[in-house]
Amino acid sequence: MSVDDNTPVLRGCIKLPLATDELLEVTAKAKDYAIMHGAAMRSKTNFSPDSLNFAPFVLVPSSFPRKEFEKAIALQPIINRLMHNVAHDEEFITTTLAETIKVDEFTANLFNIYRKVLAHGFTQAYSVGLLRSDYLAHVYEGCAIKQVEINTIASSFGGIATQLVPLQNFVLRELGHAEKLQRMPKNDALAGLCDGMVKAWDIYAKPQAVILFIIEEVSYNICDQRFHEFYIRETYPHIKVLRRTLTEVHRDGKLGQHKELLLGSTEVAVIYFRAGYEPGHYPSQGEWDARYLMETSLAIKCPSIHYHLAGTKKVQQALAQPSVLERFINDPEEMKAVGKIFTGLYSLDDNEAGNANYEMALRTPEKFVLKPQREGGGNNVYGLDIPDALKRMSRVERSAWILMDLIHPPLSQGYMVRPGSAMPPQIVDMVSELGIFGVVIGDAEHIVHNYQAGHMLRTKLSTANEGGVAAGLGALDSPYLI
Ligand code: ADP
Ligand code: MG
Ligand code: MG
Repeated sequence: MSVDDNTPVLRGCIKLPLATDELLEVTAKAKDYAIMHGAAMRSKTNFSPDSLNFAPFVLVPSSFPRKEFEKAIALQPIINRLMHNVAHDEEFITTTLAETIKVDEFTANLFNIYRKVLAHGFTQAYSVGLLRSDYLAHVYEGCAIKQVEINTIASSFGGIATQLVPLQNFVLRELGHAEKLQRMPKNDALAGLCDGMVKAWDIYAKPQAVILFIIEEVSYNICDQRFHEFYIRETYPHIKVLRRTLTEVHRDGKLGQHKELLLGSTEVAVIYFRAGYEPGHYPSQGEWDARYLMETSLAIKCPSIHYHLAGTKKVQQALAQPSVLERFINDPEEMKAVGKIFTGLYSLDDNEAGNANYEMALRTPEKFVLKPQREGGGNNVYGLDIPDALKRMSRVERSAWILMDLIHPPLSQGYMVRPGSAMPPQIVDMVSELGIFGVVIGDAEHIVHNYQAGHMLRTKLSTANEGGVAAGLGALDSPYLI
């Protein structure tokens, strides 16, 4: 990403640079603190199921504007309700995705499951949404937050983010800055998210039934997932947690007499998807069959298929039109507040408006990011790369993508610590993306639980387009409110 020389730099938490000796010492301690407290992952380059690397982290918390942080927190219940309403609007989901599913096979496969489930009626009326709404502050609008996206499936890092506050607290205390801790908001993401799953388990109301985590063949982000599992097991010891891949569910899963999901003889109350959001998670028809089996079952899904579809980029783009937002939010004040966090989002469907947006992207590509219907990072096309990418597509293929205004976040400066990187770390320019977790549980008529559930901050080098933590460009962080 090109960084404008005039991009403002946020006032830092403490004065940098640190003296080299002090930096070396505190970084070494912080790395061990991270591993020992589970701010860790499995290595992709040197994988072993028996060992962990610390997760990349930022040594000292990065600054984030307090007003904007508080705004994001306050908005979350409204966003939860918005997504719940969107997920339950069959007509909206169907028309919004109509063009996209003609060309995007993955979204079409999800949509086909949705269609089949609709045709037979939902066996389970309740869904549980564990959402994460992501924001960048936008320097051209006084650092007001703009929504990057909303995740409705496998919203991750709630577990590790909860460990980041103690880690950075430890570092600040070591550096003699204990007074700074009061500007670091507490973070109960893990408890909030797990309690959401447990509330769904309560709704299911069968003491023997378990919570099933759907996982990938290899879980690199194992600590984050295990934190969820262990929190549930330790706080609610009567609730069992199982971990299974889609392939295993295909092999072992079946429906009981009342359409309850059975794995062997074990009944599943709640399904928490930490996989299933990208094509690679479905290597054969068997995994799709497993997804369908789960969707038709009585288990409460997190997310259910309609929630999954509500989280697509295409839906986000459609929602950013004020006339559409009106359909889902009645209160004019809330409408206004939510409208303000949206930045320009444009359809590339094969129609007049879509074609005009296509021309606009070719004229001024530097203003945009081009996004497909994918999750998990690494899929977008940025700025000057957009024209080539668009020209390679046919008119209809373009409708699998959306166009979005680039958000320009302010810079912060600090030390990014990564496994295997040279010591001592150097001061780098970074930008931070804030994620706010939300929990919403309900059926088509009622919402029974709706709350904000903690936050996470992911910080990347200012020169990187994306800051995937697992991909190695991003680092875990937590906000220091200024
Ligand atoms: P994914 O679902 O794959 O995470 P995102 O929409 O979150 O997709 O995009 C991935 C990353 O790309 C974001 O975390 C952010 O760093 C960057 N990004 C996405 N949209 C924008 C935007 N409009 N402006 C600036 N950066 C963006
Ligand atoms: Mg996403
Ligand atoms: Mg994202």
